[in-house]
Formats: sequence, structure tokens, C-alpha cells
Amino acid sequence: MDDENARLDRADQVLRTAAAIALDYAGSVDDRRVTPDQDALAALAAFHEPLPDIGADAEDTLRLLHAVGSPATVASTGRHYFGFVTGATYPVALGTSWLASAWDQNAALPVMSPVAATLHDVVRGWLVDLLRLPAGTAVAFVTGATVANAACLASARDALLGRLGWDAQADGLFGAPPFDVVIGERAHSTLSKSLGMVGLGRSRVTVVPADDQGRLRADLLPDIDGPVLVCAQAGEVNTGAFDPFDPIADWLAERSGWLHVDGAFGLWALADPLRSDLVSGLDRADSWATDGHKMLNVTYDCGIAFVRQPDDLRRTFAATAGYLPPGSGFEAMHHTPQSSQRARQAELWSVLRTLGRDGVRRLVAGSCEAATTIAGRLADGGLTVLNEVVLNQVLVRLVDGPTTAALIAEVQADGRIWCGATSWDGATAMRISVSSWKTDLADAGFAADVILECARRVGDRPAHARAQQPSRGAPTGGPPRSRPPRR
Ligand SMILES: *Cc1c(COP(=O)(O)O)cnc(C)c1O
Repeated sequence: MDDENARLDRADQVLRTAAAIALDYAGSVDDRRVTPDQDALAALAAFHEPLPDIGADAEDTLRLLHAVGSPATVASTGRHYFGFVTGATYPVALGTSWLASAWDQNAALPVMSPVAATLHDVVRGWLVDLLRLPAGTAVAFVTGATVANAACLASARDALLGRLGWDAQADGLFGAPPFDVVIGERAHSTLSKSLGMVGLGRSRVTVVPADDQGRLRADLLPDIDGPVLVCAQAGEVNTGAFDPFDPIADWLAERSGWLHVDGAFGLWALADPLRSDLVSGLDRADSWATDGHKMLNVTYDCGIAFVRQPDDLRRTFAATAGYLPPGSGFEAMHHTPQSSQRARQAELWSVLRTLGRDGVRRLVAGSCEAATTIAGRLADGGLTVLNEVVLNQVLVRLVDGPTTAALIAEVQADGRIWCGATSWDGATAMRISVSSWKTDLADAGFAADVILECARRVGDRPAHARAQQPSRGAPTGGPPRSRPPRR
């Protein structure tokens, strides 16, 4: 047994190996295809081994993970990934996550981790200041915006029912007095998931039509009495558009209710004073959800729930047990859906400290500038830009839906950059999201070059062959690749 423990306890050697492997990965991520090639995908079969009866060597295990796993990752930490809205990671965030994993703190209670509790308080203050939210706003760290939305909506539910004399925590929702839920037509799919999770229903909502950018039409808000829960959005996932918060808040002020804002990536626009027209009235909400792992480029997973009145989080998430000490300071387990939880505030603290207020502003402004550059180049090249580029999202179409689908397939097969498809106005569109801190204007130009080159290749093929037939990677007669794929 002592031998066995000694074998598992070679911490120094194991961690050095892990660090060397991680450095190798981080240092080469920009030199490879953005998505795994067929060989890398086929090699994943090596993981399908039976659970060993006798444990394997730790370093050998790490080496297998790197040899087989690393080539099958998506290079979303690189400069050329434009898919979904997927942030990369700052080196200081990655390094902090190494240290925070070494600490392995349970951030549930201050008594379990004084450092986590202190960093929570510091980061709360910094975020509320940076995003210009009401000073006393409570902050809860969760896995992502989906759970941040759910945490806010659960708090809203209990607060609104409380005003109606109903204790939802004690008595549940069966028999509870009803209230209305209002969402925009272009609310994110996971907002509906969150509404379902907290028992408010995905379909039992009033849907307000959106305009051509996906903004909720405040002039079409329904003629209903309060109390009402309104879910607005900062950053539509295709266009990046912002709902008109002031008119929504004015409408709500005539009723009683709760305004929640899903700002998974868009909330960070609050850090850029030049974007104040987009965010006007955003601070009038009762709760806000955002991600750290998208625009701010911290490691997964990191969602942030902001609730104006800290007691509203506590009412919903407090747990009691005989062994729990009486409260002092912010107790994360009594303000989040989790009990045990990792200290997500550590990576946030590091990134905010090393960027500073001006760095976050430049990050937001830089993403928008790169997106604007891509949009301009694509428009010049004959694509139709479907959105006003107000933040980091570009939505384009080549000719029509099917031709756009062929272009997307061509770009994905090419492998130098990656962006995905969405449906807009009933037809396929290509969505380009600038969400990596690394993506500069040269990378934006590179992305536009690749897309235009792929568009030419699609255009050169007969129409009937466009839909399924991306050419096999290498451009034919086009300019040479500036970053040749390694594998
Ligand atoms: C990404 C996103 C979400 C979900 O965020 P997760 O971090 O994936 O849970 C919710 N709303 C919007 C607008 C998003 O862009």
C-alpha cells in the first residue's frame, strides 16, 4: 500500500510533465488546423480501452491524453476561431487556473477558503464598478450564462411570488398565483431552457416580436398588468444587437415586476464608454447574466449572475444544516445553485487585474473593430452583411441560403479558420464571432481573405455541385497559406 501511494504521489514529476505538455499545446495552437483532421478524429479510438484492473502510470496517462487528445481539440484558444461565441483564454487566466487547481479550494463558504471569499468580494466590487451596475449588486459565480440566467430567474420567481404572498421555496409552484413572463422573439435558446428549469415554462410566455436586427420591439410590449417578469437581451447571438432597455424599463415601471437581462457576451459592452448608446437603461434591470468564458477570455467554465438585491439570491439558494456555521461574509453556497464549487473568481481576478479598466475597454473595442473589418472586407467582396456590426458578431450571406451553406462547408473543410451556420430570416447565414483576445486586425483580414477565397471556389463550381462538395483543403491556384496547418 505504501508503494502504491508513493506511486500516486510523485507530484513533482507528474506536474512538471503536465506543465510541459500544456506549454507545448498552448505554444502550437496557432500553427495547426482550427478543427481536427480525419486522422486526429480516427485516433480518438485509442481512448476506448477497458478500465484497467491495475492502475496505469500517471505520466504515461498524461502523455496519452496529449498525444491523442490534443490533436482532436478545436483550436478555440487560437486567433482564427470564429465559431459560436467562444472565448479563448488569456495566459494569465490559464496560469491562474493551474494554481487554483493546485489550491483545489471549495469556495462554498468563507470558512472553507478565506482566499476564495476575499477574491469574491474584490471581484464583485470590480465587476459592479466596471459594468456600472448598482453599487450593492450581489454577484454569484456559476458554470455559464445558462445557469446564471436560471439563478436570476429563480430569484425573480421567488421574489415576485413573495410579493403575491406565496413562499415558493416552501410550497413550490403548484397552486401558486400566476404572473406573466415576457421574452423577445430572439431570446437565446438557453433562456427558454432556463425558464423551463425554474418551472416558469418554456412556452408559457408572451413573445414580443423583434425587429430586423433581433431587438425586442418595445412598442409591441403586451397590454398586461403586473406583476410581470421581462427577459431582455444584451447581445443577440447572431447580430450582437441590444434590446431597447430604457423603453422596456419605462413600460415595466408602470406595472410591478422584474427586469432580467441576458448579456452572456454583450454585457461587457458596458465596459466601453463609446458604446453607451447600446447600453442605455441597462442598469435599470433587477438582474443580469453574463459569461466570463466568452468575451472576457477566462478559462471554462465561468458564468456570472448579478442580482440587484442580495437577499433575492439568498431567499432562493440558502441551505440549512446543523453543521453549517452561522454566516459571516458572502457565503457562495447560500447564493448559488451549487454547494461545493470551485473558485471561479480566481481567474476573473487575474484577468481583470492584468487588463485593468482600460484593457477591458480595449478588448471590447478591439473585438468590434475586428468584426467591422471582416464585415467591410466581405461586403467589398460581394457578400451581403445582414447585421449592423455593433459589437463582435458578423452575419453574412453569399447569394442565398444554399450557396451560403456551401460556403460554410468550404470554410470548415479548408481548416484555416472556422465559423458556423445559423438561420436568419428563414435562410442559412454565416455567423462570424470575434471572441478571442488574440484576434487582431491582421487576423481579421486573414479571416476575410480565407472566406473570400472559399467563396470563389464555391462560385467556380456548378450550382448542382455546390451543396455537398467542399474541395479538399488546399486552395487551387489561390494565394499561399500564410499559416500552414501542422497536422
Ligand atoms: C452563450 C449564450 C448563452 C449561454 O451561455 P453558456 O455559457 O453557454 O451557458 C446565453 N445567452 C446568450 C445570449 C449567449 O450568447
